[in-house]
Parts: sequence; structure tokens; C-alpha cells
Amino acid sequence: TRTSGSVSTRSAQEILEGVFGFDAFRGDQAEIVEHVSAGGDAVVLMPTGGGKSLCYQVPALVRDGTGLVISPLIALMEDQVAALRANGVAAAFLNSTLSWEEVQQVEAALLAGELDLLYMAPERLVQERTLAVLERARISLFAIDEAHCVSQWGHDFRTDYLGLAVLADRFPGIPRIALTATATQATHAELTERLRLDDARHFVASFDRPNIQYRIEPKSRARNQLLQFLRIEHAGDAGIVYCLSRRSVEQTAEFLRGEGFAALPYHAGLSEVERAENQRRFLREEGIVMVATIAFGMGIDKPDVRFVAHLDLPKSVEGYYQETGRAGRDGLPSTAWMAYGLGDVVQLGRMIDQSEGSAAHRRRQREHLEAMLALCETVDCRRVQILRYFGQDAEACGNCDTCLQPPRTWDATVPVQKLMSAVIRLDRQRGERYGAGQIIDVLRGRVSDRSTASRHEELSVWGIGADLTPAVWRSIVRQLLARGLLQAVGDYGVLVVPEAAGPVLRGEETVLLREDVQRTRTAQAGTSS
Ligand code: ADP
Ligand code: ZN
Repeated sequence: TRTSGSVSTRSAQEILEGVFGFDAFRGDQAEIVEHVSAGGDAVVLMPTGGGKSLCYQVPALVRDGTGLVISPLIALMEDQVAALRANGVAAAFLNSTLSWEEVQQVEAALLAGELDLLYMAPERLVQERTLAVLERARISLFAIDEAHCVSQWGHDFRTDYLGLAVLADRFPGIPRIALTATATQATHAELTERLRLDDARHFVASFDRPNIQYRIEPKSRARNQLLQFLRIEHAGDAGIVYCLSRRSVEQTAEFLRGEGFAALPYHAGLSEVERAENQRRFLREEGIVMVATIAFGMGIDKPDVRFVAHLDLPKSVEGYYQETGRAGRDGLPSTAWMAYGLGDVVQLGRMIDQSEGSAAHRRRQREHLEAMLALCETVDCRRVQILRYFGQDAEACGNCDTCLQPPRTWDATVPVQKLMSAVIRLDRQRGERYGAGQIIDVLRGRVSDRSTASRHEELSVWGIGADLTPAVWRSIVRQLLARGLLQAVGDYGVLVVPEAAGPVLRGEETVLLREDVQRTRTAQAGTSS
């Protein structure tokens, strides 16, 4: 094992070439490396695949002592350490998979100054015992990876990250670098404050991924839409299909295998052996389609992922950006494709309602969902919308679905008023609340045993929406939910008209809705009648 003393004389460029085998730094890397090597604190916002690791690995080798890397995921740190060791770097990790003896060995190596880099999880670092050991060691820097986890309002909060503020007091003078791929301006400010990086320099890379084409289409028969997408555009390509539940992961993988695709499942319910094997095949073999829950992907470094497909709506724009960002790390054209429907809105809303945690937490989750829905329903460039969400400006990209086929809008004020009236009448006059399906049946005047038993035929709103197809009605409901002009509440997602709908009901505001592409004809028929 090399001691860190011997590498400290090497320059950053020598290390980049000699240890990592790269010719040049990319983007902000050179400046970040120089700043941290010189002992400065840094906050680094860089998209996935941007090359964050080198930003602390190189300074750790330039500087005397051991670079301490705080990383939340055990699997991730083990991969990184293996890769570093393969490059001849003296790297180790401390985590719960190690025996007591192994921990002793690593700590001895640390104290003997034999380690270049040491990885551990935040919950271990903040223990008094660990801090005391670190104080006896020579530490070159602290790198806080996935630093957005310190944000209580973010989508990925981890309590243990809060304790990392202690580093500012206990290790003054040792540079700290916080890195994340998901940061809005609010998260950026919050992590700077909570980690007490007051004097840090900030490096904010562009979050634009110009080689990714963003597309979001209305969901009708999701699996068949996916099949079309894969057959026509990505036959033989490697990619990831994200589903919300383990069951739909299994079913979708099986469906795709039946259609001749090399599809593998990945979710937390599989054994560790199966997960490792499927991940290994995805990385090594060509053209594997990984059907997965979001448990899959963090730290996966596969450059030629040609598509990322979502069959269910992500919970936040951050999540969507992170997941789609796994496509096209090699810079070649790639697709981020999603099918999204009314059911998604109702389901995620219900999950938030039922989730544990404070009212403030649920409100925040709802805000995350609303931003995601706004991205789905936008009539503007998707890329502009995503970058604006991260506080960055951009021009319309000319490559996403809304740029290529600008969505048409139609004046849906009258149908929307009919829908709202039906919901309100049933609620106020009958004390009955229903989900979208039954409200639409009432509007369309669809006679059934239930409508007869409930005497819905007698309602003044019965059949007043027969001019529009159920598909158009569902599209209307979906868009109203996305805009907060309708709410789905409770276990059954019953519809409620919120206060915010007042101006629409009173005819003071018109409602322009997106005309879903495959529904163009019916929607037109609706408006002309
Ligand atoms: P991030 O952590 O930001 O997602 P990584 O640090 O994992 O990104 O880097 C992404 C990929 O880019 C890795 O395969 C890495 O080896 C490669 N990479 C990073 N910096 C450079 C560079 N300067 N030159 C060539 N490849 C690089
Ligand atoms: Zn665009």
C-alpha cells in the first residue's frame, strides 16, 4: 500500500492521468480540484454523470492525509472503493457489513496514515466514538456526497445528515466539499446553511442534458404504449423501465420477455443475490432492459443507457430528473419517455394522504407532486420547464415532445363547469361523493344498476356531458387535478371541488386545457357541439 505521503507531492494533473487514466478535467472539475486542494470549502451542484467523484478524490490524493467520504448507501461506497483500489488507490470503507476485527484494521490503517480515502455512512461518522478516532488521524478533507439529503424539505431527507454540521466545529481548517446532483435553489441554500458551509465557494454546473429527449404522453394502455416505444425506437438497446410497485415490475418484465425483450426485474423484494446478478447482467451484457423500482439506479455507472421509461409518475421533478439522467451519460442521443394518466394523480395523492409524518411534510410532498404534474401538463418546452425548476434559464430545445408537436389547447370552461356542478350537486344535495369513474357516468348519462338504484337519472346534471367521450372526460379530470382545480381525497379518491375553483364556476376565468394528441378528434367534436 502506498502511503499518502508519497502522493502528496504529485500534481492534480499527474494524478488525473496516472491514477485515473483521464487526459483532462471536465467542466468545473479543474477549478473545484484546485480550490479544495488549496484547502477551501466547496458546494458542488452537478448533474448525475457530471463527474463529481473526481472533485474530491483528486484533492484527497493531492493533499496530505486521508480524505473522508460521507456516502449514504453501502452498496455505492463498496463499488467506489473497489474501483479506486483497482486504480491503486489506498481506499477503504467502514460500514455495518464489517466484523469488529475488520473495523479495527481499517482504523489502525487510518491512524497509521496508510489510507488515501475512507468511506463511511453519516450515522457512523456522527458517533462520538468515530469522531474521537478521526481527531487522532490526519484528515485531508471531508467530502459530503448526496448532500441534498440534509434538506428537510427535499425529496430524500436523512436525519443523520443533520449531525454533519458538527464537522465545522470539530475540524476547523479541514476543507469540506458538499456535492449533489439534485438541488433546487431552496435546497442549495438549505444545505449550505445546515452544513455550515458559510465560506464555501459554490460551483453550479448546468443541469441541461441536451442529448436527452424528454417525452410525456397520456396513458391509455401503458404496457402497449411502452411496447410500441421500445419496438419502434429502441429495439436492442439497453434501458431502464421504472414502475412504482414490485408487482408491476414483475408483471412488466414478464410481459416484455414474452414480447422478445431481454428484460430483468429489480426491486427490494428480490434476494440480494438475484439483485446483484441482474445488475451485473445489465452492466455487462448488451441490450438488457431493466424493469425496476427506484431502488435501482443510484451509483449505476453505465454510459450507454439509451432510454429511461416511466410507467408511473415520479413523486417529484428532482426524482424524475435523477432517474431520467441515467440515460445517455455517453452524450449520445437518448430518450426519457413517460406514460402518465389520471390514475397516477389519484394514486400518488392517496399515498401522500396516507403517509406518516407531519402535516408540513405532507404539504411539502404535495408541492413536489404539483410541480411534477405541472411538468406533465405543460404546453411549453419540457427542458425549459425542468431547468427553470432548478433555477436555470434555457431556450426552447426543439427536441422534446412539446417542441416537436406543440400541444393544442381548447377552451374547456363549459365542460369543466358541468363537471364541477355534478360533483357539487351530488355532494350538497345528496351527500354523495364519488371517484372520477362514477362522476363521468353521471355526466354522460350512463344507465346502470347503480345509477338506477341511486336515482341519478333524476339529477339535473344527468347526461349533460354526453357530447364528450369518457377518454376526454378523464383527460379533463386529470388536468384539473394537476392544476388544483379539483381534488381527489380519501381512500377512494373521491372528487371534491376546492375553493380555488370559485372563479371558474362563476365564469370569471376560462380554462384552457391540453388537447391530448390521440384524443384530438373527440375533443374537437366536443368543443364544436
Ligand atoms: P457523478 O458522481 O457526478 O454522477 P461520476 O463521478 O460517477 O459522476 O462520473 C461519471 C463518469 O464520468 C464516470 O464514468 C467517470 O469515470 C467519468 N469521468 C469523470 N470525470 C472525467 C474526466 N475528467 N474525463 C473522463 N471521464 C470522466
Ligand atoms: Zn423542448
